[in-house]
Amino acid sequence: MRFLSEQIVFQEIPKEISLAFEITNCPRRCKGCHTPELQQDIGRLLTQYRFDIVCEKYASADGKFLFSCVLFLGGEQHPEFISFLKLCKTYRLKTALYTGASEISVDVLNLLDYVKLGEYVHELGGLNSPTTNQLFLELI
Ligand code: SF4
Repeated sequence: MRFLSEQIVFQEIPKEISLAFEITNCPRRCKGCHTPELQQDIGRLLTQYRFDIVCEKYASADGKFLFSCVLFLGGEQHPEFISFLKLCKTYRLKTALYTGASEISVDVLNLLDYVKLGEYVHELGGLNSPTTNQLFLELI
């Protein structure tokens, strides 16, 4: 599982400061894809070691994370994806997934606090469009 970039985002998950990873090798081909590079198998390998390094980059001097949630922009098709969700839970971080899929496995769902489902359909628009096909859920 590889990622193109990571950044802190404030709007994607309401009420959370999220560390977002852009996971590559997206299997979908949405028309009007916002980041076509994500369809390629490129980027840095996401290992637990690198995940920890990135998290530490966004931590205070006393080691407290400056974010409350880890947002994966894709990636649920990779077998190792679940291990990163479990890792987030051991760090007491919330977890979120944005996926173009309309269904995901129960095993993944059980480890998520938030999920956005549904492919991007240009004519219907994204989450801020009243005609969108996408669904954002807070999972309890
Ligand atoms: S799911 Fe996202 S990254 Fe993948 S093709 Fe669709 S818009 Fe692009």
